[in-house]
Amino acid sequence: MSIYVTKPFLPPIEEFNRYTQDIFLRDILTNQGPCVVEFENKMKEFLSVKNFQYVTNGTIALQLALKVLDIDEGEIITTPFSYVATTSSILWERCKPIFVDIEPNNFTIDVNKIEAAITPKTKAIMPVHVFGYACDVDAIQKIAEKHNLKVIYDAAHAFGSSYKGRALASYGDVSTLSFHATKLFHTIEGGACICHNDIIDKKLDLIKRFGHLGDDYQYLGINGKQTEFNAAMGLAIYPYIKQIMEKRKKISELYDSFLGGYVQHPQKQKDLEYNYAYYPAVFESEKELLSVFSSLEQADIYPRRYFYPSLNKLPYLKDVSSCPISEDISTRIACLPLYPDLSYEDVKKICNIILSTISRHRETAC
Ligand SMILES: *Cc1c(COP(=O)(O)O)cnc(C)c1O
Repeated sequence: MSIYVTKPFLPPIEEFNRYTQDIFLRDILTNQGPCVVEFENKMKEFLSVKNFQYVTNGTIALQLALKVLDIDEGEIITTPFSYVATTSSILWERCKPIFVDIEPNNFTIDVNKIEAAITPKTKAIMPVHVFGYACDVDAIQKIAEKHNLKVIYDAAHAFGSSYKGRALASYGDVSTLSFHATKLFHTIEGGACICHNDIIDKKLDLIKRFGHLGDDYQYLGINGKQTEFNAAMGLAIYPYIKQIMEKRKKISELYDSFLGGYVQHPQKQKDLEYNYAYYPAVFESEKELLSVFSSLEQADIYPRRYFYPSLNKLPYLKDVSSCPISEDISTRIACLPLYPDLSYEDVKKICNIILSTISRHRETAC
């Protein structure tokens, strides 16, 4: 059987059906129904946050975050090393992404380079806790306060990580999550906005459902409402979150034990409780990565190039600055298969193929 970079987790079907049977009995399918409310409450508890707005996906969550903070023009400082949605949501909201290079140890935005990118047009900073590793949230907060900027974290990878004793997905003015099927915890499609300010949260709650309460039209809104069936999937998977993370941890440690010293892997910050969302591996060169990919493909194994290209290289962007570290890393990084029921034998097989390919490659290289 083919092995892909990830495989969505599915709960036992009876447990999902218990929720869907109730949905059929109630005849309430959307518009902040009981499953959505229960899901939001469970998430508040799990993440220890006061506010949690469940929405249709992680991209609309980013766009709602920009809208709720009244950022509708100007420059947003962001990272080039992420999924395209981080940049595209900025562009979609008619703002200009300003790319600041990443630091080489865990691939998050380099806080020492942020201030040089600030101009009178800068409105916000949008960093990413990439692969579930923590940005330097304290340094970013200081810079934001000094220059009167908003901070929106794209925390799509951060669910389940905690940093300095607090959910990693709870920092900044707004943090956004994605519950897409490929993420560590999913609701098929889904996303969320998390903020601490109750006024901002109230406004989010309105603008995600067209901006009105009955006949009272308060804000320009959009449709970001999530359905009962998506919430039901989240509720059915919820009891398995800890187990999912533990299994991913075991598999990641197995990868470490086979590949340690041969491929580069991000360094965990000391105050981080990591969620094991991804297993990124950096090869010596793009050529080496491509030979590893072709060897794995022959065994029907398909890792993914996360993230490539570096987002400052997107073809529809004009006059962007160069980001040498992100551009270099993105050409030679891949995420290896990682999901709870990936077997010990499969991990071993993947690692053997990788090791034999790179040893062949490194021999011929010198
Ligand atoms: C998945 C992802 C998104 C988008 O989330 P969707 O729910 O797919 O819209 C945004 N940012 C990052 C970093 C992601 O990985």
